[in-house]
Amino acid sequence: MNELSHKEWVGRASAIRFRDKAFIDGKPVSARSGRTFASINPATGATLAEVASCGEEDIDLAVAAARRSFEAGVWSRTSPQHRKEVLLRLAALLRENLPELALLESLDMGKLVKDAATIDVPGSAAIFQWYAEAIDKVYDEVAPTGQGDLALVRREPLGVVGAVVPWNFPLDMATWKCAPALAAGNSVVLKPAEQSPFSALRLAELAMEAGLPAGVLNVVPGLGETAGQALGRHMDVDCLAFTGSTAVGKLFLQYSGQSNMKQVWLETGGKSPNLVFADCADLDAAADMAAFGIFFNQGQVCSANSRLLVERGIKDALVEKLAERAAATQPGDPLDPASRMGAMVDARHAATVMRFIDGGRKSARLVTGGGRISVDGRGSFVQPTIFDNVSPDDPLARDEIFGPVLSVIAFDSEEEALRIANDSIYGLAASLWTDSLSRAHRIAERLRVGTVSVNTVDALSPMTPFGGFRQSGFGRDLSLHALDKYTALKTTWIKY
Ligand code: NAD
Repeated sequence: MNELSHKEWVGRASAIRFRDKAFIDGKPVSARSGRTFASINPATGATLAEVASCGEEDIDLAVAAARRSFEAGVWSRTSPQHRKEVLLRLAALLRENLPELALLESLDMGKLVKDAATIDVPGSAAIFQWYAEAIDKVYDEVAPTGQGDLALVRREPLGVVGAVVPWNFPLDMATWKCAPALAAGNSVVLKPAEQSPFSALRLAELAMEAGLPAGVLNVVPGLGETAGQALGRHMDVDCLAFTGSTAVGKLFLQYSGQSNMKQVWLETGGKSPNLVFADCADLDAAADMAAFGIFFNQGQVCSANSRLLVERGIKDALVEKLAERAAATQPGDPLDPASRMGAMVDARHAATVMRFIDGGRKSARLVTGGGRISVDGRGSFVQPTIFDNVSPDDPLARDEIFGPVLSVIAFDSEEEALRIANDSIYGLAASLWTDSLSRAHRIAERLRVGTVSVNTVDALSPMTPFGGFRQSGFGRDLSLHALDKYTALKTTWIKY
């Protein structure tokens, strides 16, 4: 499907139907208040649809539907084999509807349709499949009590899981929460970001088609301060799984403390370092991946390799290679498979990124890029941008810009590289390039981050946990470890 031409994608886009209602208890419904928000295509500025803007009343309805379905046991008490079959069907439906889902992602938040078709949508299907296949292979425990006692330690679903997700990978972030939560038998209320509601709404429909009972997956589009907050403060939500900014993550901790002490799991921001040592075996590969690590998805990636720490002797050579890659990665129409970079999520975010760039022009050396541009006279696009000679204290090196902006910092020793790399409030991911196995282990051990990629960037798979240290959050998405977030351990002790 990724082989469709520009003309074919444009043709399909003109015929696409946007789901503009909330999805509660198995049905599309308007917000009780009648309120809507406009969903805008950032590549053109066109309004795609007016979408139901859920408020407290709607969240109440969605949570009540989730609770009813959970208590009825229509999903929560079905066998793991049954849940597996339904989720496998959902994975298959995601694949069958791949072009439509890829288009929804691209039109909604500006990413390249080619990337959505080859990475986002297949990734979502693969993760539903992975949890489906895993869930009937997870065993519980019998404690070593000795004769006369039998202590069973079992995992139980928590009940109603609230999931609040961002706009950078709308379908995938929803999947990272929903797949393990549903596999474990929970009911879910999902709030997509207001910038990107469509794929989540379609996911809920497809889940019903796959056999998920009504009320088990509800989707409540709406604004963060209203719909997101209402879910965070709800007295009948057992667990709130969040991906988004660190500032909003902290609010969810407050919401929980001020309401029912629901469990909160946070996947938040990052400022990931990419350390390139002079003994790196393949500088071209390092340059390719460093460019991918910051320009992919317009740099709107939580684990984006936004700080490039390079050993001084090879810095100029690497920066030159990176400048060539940046020149070849200019933004274009997201529906054109030949485009190398898409649009920023919206005009406001593009302006925020430009403020960092304008500040950087005064404090560092602009190597390439730095412009906000339009494509065919429209849209919010930012050029791939590289700054050299960035001070580790500069906002360019400290703040999560969430755009295609790379900050290059030179180092002279392993110790110095580690000190700069770890000098951040964040700790989501890091990459390092070296031909020395000992150095790779030595550095990986001391990096305070959730994932270290060696001689690659952003290593990621359903099989391995993903999440942060420090203010990048806690708890892990993906892998069997994610099930810990959505289950509680129960001990049943029998005396005989
Ligand atoms: P955001 O924090 O602004 O929004 C995330 C979600 O929270 C959205 O659904 C939004 O509506 C909601 N929200 C916003 N304000 C709220 C409030 N006051 N109360 C309740 N809910 C509220 O983040 P964003 O701009 O959508 O996404 C970008 C951020 O997400 C970046 O910081 C990025 O690093 C982070 N992110 C992290 C990961 C990860 O796995 N660690 C993955 C992707 C994105």
